[in-house]
Amino acid sequence: MKTNFLDRRCPQCGSPAEKIHEGLTIGEKCTRCNWSVVTTYIPSIEQDDTLYSINLKNANHHDKDQIKAISKIAGINFLQARNLLQKEKIIVFKGKATEIKLIKSILENANISINIHPKFNW
Ligand SMILES: [Zn+2]
Repeated sequence: MKTNFLDRRCPQCGSPAEKIHEGLTIGEKCTRCNWSVVTTYIPSIEQDDTLYSINLKNANHHDKDQIKAISKIAGINFLQARNLLQKEKIIVFKGKATEIKLIKSILENANISINIHPKFNW
């Protein structure tokens, strides 16, 4: 069983300190009194201001999973996504690192090959 207690004691009363991790807030608090320290943790991916673009290379308008992936990402319905895939040779999505990471995972799950520019390290 994983314990949630740190090897730390509260500086005020000496009781064990407990880890806090809720959303983007991390820190520690006393299990007995009201002592606590918290910081807001911003993952470095969210500090990446680069505008990335994803090029889809081999999207197939006969493949339902691929059409669904495109409709999800572009916020369009299935038929619109299929039309888009039929018409466009190359489809490009642009966004910040957090969006690109999500889009990338959706496309990869649908077996669509992609290129990301500039180099994407997340
Ligand atoms: Zn305490």
